[in-house]
Amino acid sequence: MQFIDLKKQQILIRDKLNTRVQDVLDHGKYIMGPEVFELEEQLSSYVKRKHCISCSSGTDALLIPLMALNIGPGDAVLTTTFSYIATSEVIRLVGATPIFIDIYEKTYNINPELIKTGIKFAKKNNLNPRALIAVDLFGLPARYRIINEECKKYGLTIIEDSAQGFGGQIGNEPACSFGDISTTSFFPAKPLGCYGDGGAIFTNDDDLSEKMKSIRIHGSGKDKYNNIRTGINGRLDTFQAAILLEKLNLFPGELIKRNQKAEIYSKYISDSYTKPFIPRNYTSSWAQYSVLAPSSEHRVKVLDHLKNKNIPVMIYYPISLHEQTVNLDLKRVKCPISSDIAKRIFSIPMHPYLDIEQQKHISSSLNEVE
Ligand SMILES: *Cc1c(COP(=O)(O)O)cnc(C)c1O
Repeated sequence: MQFIDLKKQQILIRDKLNTRVQDVLDHGKYIMGPEVFELEEQLSSYVKRKHCISCSSGTDALLIPLMALNIGPGDAVLTTTFSYIATSEVIRLVGATPIFIDIYEKTYNINPELIKTGIKFAKKNNLNPRALIAVDLFGLPARYRIINEECKKYGLTIIEDSAQGFGGQIGNEPACSFGDISTTSFFPAKPLGCYGDGGAIFTNDDDLSEKMKSIRIHGSGKDKYNNIRTGINGRLDTFQAAILLEKLNLFPGELIKRNQKAEIYSKYISDSYTKPFIPRNYTSSWAQYSVLAPSSEHRVKVLDHLKNKNIPVMIYYPISLHEQTVNLDLKRVKCPISSDIAKRIFSIPMHPYLDIEQQKHISSSLNEVE
């Protein structure tokens, strides 16, 4: 059994992928070829944003906006403490200071009611709070109505890290449309993945879009060889864009399937576990199906039991960002909810091509653990 089965999906579109790859081999525009621009157009219409800036990874998709906003030493960026390391890594890469905010116990997303505490903490440490990176964890959009209200009060730019969230919704509004700048990742295991590294940035802001396009290509100006700012080599490969164009056709159907799989798990897994909570009006893209064990001891038993049954399990995330070794030098506020969740959470196989027998087997194996 696979944690995420990419092969079943590939079989469905293998011939079309071959044609796409051959097209690129034929035209030979490996860097910024026509597929890149076609993909950007399709993605921006999918998430209803004016601009899409495709780029080299979900990490660079976060780095580029921070650079475009001129965030650096002396600045603070608030973010959730329960995320992948990339979310805080980029803040430190530009020389700014991350301020970690605790999460909601039920959704594992940033608790915007704690933003004011983060702002106070920044000021006390002589830092200028500039932005907030919210994460749509496991595919569920963060609570943007409150995030917006709070960030407006303090003049923070909102960056939506939707590396896991592409395809999610609040009401009829798509993930990747909730930030002043929103980002996603096309890492193979993400809801919309390519066959290597890739990412994208979305915004409605013309000026920021221009800057980010420039930063993506070494800070280039109108004249390609006269660079006007510091940038990076941050482009998306044409091959990856070609793969994504084909995968995007499958994506709406896959989202429906993921939601069906999630319902099946929620039905078969016993209530001794805390199953994912999706607030009313929210739709998850189900990047992960994550379950909370009643205790850390129980989780140890679960991991052991499922391993014996050859069922793959992952822990997202065993260590909160504020407790990562790399961040121990920072002055920190305590994030007790995240620290507790990190000890009890685990994720089970989730992809659109799970079959019901597999899901029943996984659920009953979980239910066997006492
Ligand atoms: C995967 C991920 C990233 C980084 O994306 P890459 O494409 O692997 O660089 C950033 N943030 C979150 C929340 C992620 O899950």
